[in-house]
Amino acid sequence: MNLCDIREIKQIMNMFHLNFRKELGQNFLTDRCVVEDIADGCCDDRRSTILEIGPGIGTLSWALAERYDKVVALEIDKGLIPVLSFTMGEYRNFSVVNEDVMKADLGALLAEDFARGSVSVCANLPYYITTPILMKLLESGLPFDNITIMIQSEVADRLCARAGKSEYGAITAVLAYYGQAEALFTVPADRFVPAPKVNSTVVRIRLYKERPYHPKDEALMFRTIKAAFEQRRKTLSNALSAGFSELSKEQLTDIIVACGHRADIRGEKLSIADFVALSDAIGEAIQSKK
Ligand code: SAM
Repeated sequence: MNLCDIREIKQIMNMFHLNFRKELGQNFLTDRCVVEDIADGCCDDRRSTILEIGPGIGTLSWALAERYDKVVALEIDKGLIPVLSFTMGEYRNFSVVNEDVMKADLGALLAEDFARGSVSVCANLPYYITTPILMKLLESGLPFDNITIMIQSEVADRLCARAGKSEYGAITAVLAYYGQAEALFTVPADRFVPAPKVNSTVVRIRLYKERPYHPKDEALMFRTIKAAFEQRRKTLSNALSAGFSELSKEQLTDIIVACGHRADIRGEKLSIADFVALSDAIGEAIQSKK
């Protein structure tokens, strides 16, 4: 079976009376080299468990199952479960759960795997829900080694942007808090069936084992980042004053300058380390007012 062959993919879908479900982001990969490169690059430790989100008909799953000790997959589409029994039946180290990743209790699902060794995520993500899935993985607090995802190139540019670049936004700063993102390679839209409208990029995020940033109040740091980017065209002091009614604009400008920035700086110039220092200073100012 060649799960990257468009004719075979269509035959399998016909055999199980299935159509590609656009609303579930079902664009299946058709390039075996890309599949192998993703599987090779997603993790350094072959004894790892891999969590695959959205295995589809198993295009990437077989390559993961050949390389890693165990693959646990979550697939929302019930219709694809018998397909996976057919295409992945010979791989005893592969299992699939018919569940929405956004509702799944990942800690419970992978408890034994985290106890046994390292766990990484690998997925060709459905476009309609890329950011919520990534945020769920990051905010879960689970000690994944790597998260390797294929996503729209435009989103990949945002995840990997450096401070000061136009693509740099709240998601870039938040991601930088959890780990280091690297764009591995780009995959043209014609390597999928059906072909999406845009190209994709594979991004690998190496999560910090020991985070280098230690905000005094994590929630306040996230609030500061959110406020800084909510009004992108505004200066940081204007954006923050819209988000922090507890402090005056003058106070916020003084804090920005005390943190070593120009009074008219914009949020996209600040690194995650800058945001940590800024939110600590905002926290102190709020406390001293109480
Ligand atoms: N892994 C296959 C590949 O690379 O060809 C399929 C990838 S396709 C882009 C995305 C897959 O995610 C589809 O199989 C879709 O049914 C599944 N999916 C969509 N939303 C999901 C969700 N919320 N939870 C789990 N799987 C989901």
